[in-house]
Amino acid sequence: MYKRMSDDGIILISHTEKNTDLLGPYRRFVIWVHGCCFDCDGCLAENTKNGVYTEKNISELAQEILRSDTEGITISGGEPFLQAKGLFQLVFLVKSTKDIGVIIYSGFTIEELLEDENSKQLLSVTDILIDGRYIKELDDGRAYIGSSNQRLHYLSDRYKNIGESYYSSYKRRAEIKINPNEVVLVGVPSKNVLDVWQKLKEKSGGNIGEF
Ligand code: SF4
Repeated sequence: MYKRMSDDGIILISHTEKNTDLLGPYRRFVIWVHGCCFDCDGCLAENTKNGVYTEKNISELAQEILRSDTEGITISGGEPFLQAKGLFQLVFLVKSTKDIGVIIYSGFTIEELLEDENSKQLLSVTDILIDGRYIKELDDGRAYIGSSNQRLHYLSDRYKNIGESYYSSYKRRAEIKINPNEVVLVGVPSKNVLDVWQKLKEKSGGNIGEF
């Protein structure tokens, strides 16, 4: 159905955040993988497709996650399931030591993913999948889901109690983080935050990215 982009033992990563509640309940380690096979109009993660990335060793990333003392991980992109095999290895390694929760955002629908063995394996260790391409015209302002065609699938009971109130929120939250070598926008911005961000981008000649 689609090609795997990373070699065994390596995941291509655009960005990580160690301790944030902007993309899922509780404190999370968020991974934005590099590369996407879609071309959604209005994509807010363009630089996960065309920007810089690092080749991350899976064992080292697993240790970073375990050291971060978070409830779970959220994997976004880019398109996570292009690297389904490597991400399964990562989740498997972390879960061998700690019972973490796993939330994944994908441009593929669950029906498409179930046609692929590597993707099915990654889904087997996933608690929530948010699926489907982003369609700008269907952006209804929900806080954690980009457009109304995208669906939330509970693949386990882990977040069922908290999920309904968390994902029905319309209060969009994002942070502009100024790090030593880069400025990044994390989360799904409201229109006001997006306007500020666009102005910052126009003025910036530096390393600036959206995740
Ligand atoms: S699937 Fe996500 S990252 Fe890929 S083009 Fe669409 S919005 Fe952008």
